Amino acid sequence: MPKFYIQTYGCQMNVYESGVVRRVLSDAGFAETTDEQEADVLLMMTCSVRSHAEQRALGRLGTFRALRSERAGTVVGVLGCMAQRFGDVLVTNHRADIVVGPDEYLRLPELIASVQAGTTGLVATRQTGESYDAVMLARGPGVKDSRIPMSGTRPLESSNPGILSFVTVMRGCDNYCTYCIVPHVKGRERSRPLASVLAEAERHAASGVKDITLLGQNVLAYRDGARRFPDLLRAVASALPRVRIRFLTSHPRDLDSSLLEAMQRLSNVCPSLHLPVQSGSNPILERMNRGYTREEYLAKIALCRKVLPEVCLTTDVLVGFPSETEDDFKATLDLIEQVRFDFAYMFRFSFRPGTRAEEFGPKVSEADGGRRLARLIEVQNRITAERNRGMLNREFELLIEGPSPRDSGWLGRTVANKVVVVKGRCAPGDVVRCRVTRINGWTPVAELPAREAATC
Ligand code: SF4
Repeated sequence: MPKFYIQTYGCQMNVYESGVVRRVLSDAGFAETTDEQEADVLLMMTCSVRSHAEQRALGRLGTFRALRSERAGTVVGVLGCMAQRFGDVLVTNHRADIVVGPDEYLRLPELIASVQAGTTGLVATRQTGESYDAVMLARGPGVKDSRIPMSGTRPLESSNPGILSFVTVMRGCDNYCTYCIVPHVKGRERSRPLASVLAEAERHAASGVKDITLLGQNVLAYRDGARRFPDLLRAVASALPRVRIRFLTSHPRDLDSSLLEAMQRLSNVCPSLHLPVQSGSNPILERMNRGYTREEYLAKIALCRKVLPEVCLTTDVLVGFPSETEDDFKATLDLIEQVRFDFAYMFRFSFRPGTRAEEFGPKVSEADGGRRLARLIEVQNRITAERNRGMLNREFELLIEGPSPRDSGWLGRTVANKVVVVKGRCAPGDVVRCRVTRINGWTPVAELPAREAATC
């Protein structure tokens, strides 16, 4: 049986899409290997959101080429956003055998066969609006992969794909934020039919998954006829009452009370929201084409906390956007202090060729951008630690996901998406109640009471 190896860079959408590729290849008779040395096909799922991610992938492509020269007949393929963005260049300049964009994964078996029959340099990058409805993942793709945290709510990653999973509900984006490459490489918004999402979520649950994240570039743009995202959330949460349901990512402009009310009513929908703010300054938000003002964003945060008092709020922030002044940056810092997010993914702006922001000026110098990012990280880290300290001496229900990679103990997740290191005897999939007894750095640590430990 031919073997494939796949490495994933980027966001949770890419992790999910690697799961689609796994399914397509296993249906075609391939077996996955985690040992790149024995693979007949070496694939990488790439990310174009930041140039750093692209540079890492190109470096890794060099390793794949070296493996191919040691093992004649090995196929090297680039998938995902870089495939869409660079196309032929990955063949001519980087000697990939196949280059496959986000809508063409169903063609992988045929493309691999063509390379093995002697035709190399195949590029498949049509944007067809593919939503992979027919590709049902039996369970969630693994969440531990060599990826760059980009957007999400999982600062500590679990390595147990049997407990957590993702189900894509929509793909693509129509928002065209001026800094973002995603609409250019992933195409227009398209949603999966509600029945298809539900069927996949049910299959995950039947295989033992206990925590499902509904995934999309902007899940709040979900449409299936007249049905919107709150309808989908109700359908999935009601069908799987014993499974925790989350979703990612939500555009702040599209958040409204119907979503919050659905979250409040459905007891297994987790009270966590990832709402990328990007900037706290109105002129910058306008140049980013974000579609909301600082005041509107803050009003939505206030509404979230009113309807869901225990909500865990996370965000993405970009500093050093062209024309950002010290006052703009101070407005961002001020918003961060006001909202007191539980966690933030923070980045310095990098120009992405092909986006509108490429033409914007004046550029913020490397030194100013770096200094602002360092200051922002310092402020948010303090707030994250303070918020986690607020968990001290409180009891939480934790879903055990697997061993902690950094401490002896286990990783458990609260319903609000906080990761806690649990000391005691338990196993992946257990749900335990325990008290946070200390904070290590900013990580809450809980001890399993003897009674709980005995039943695990
Ligand atoms: S909403 Fe904006 S930042 Fe998010 S994927 Fe779409 S264009 Fe990119």
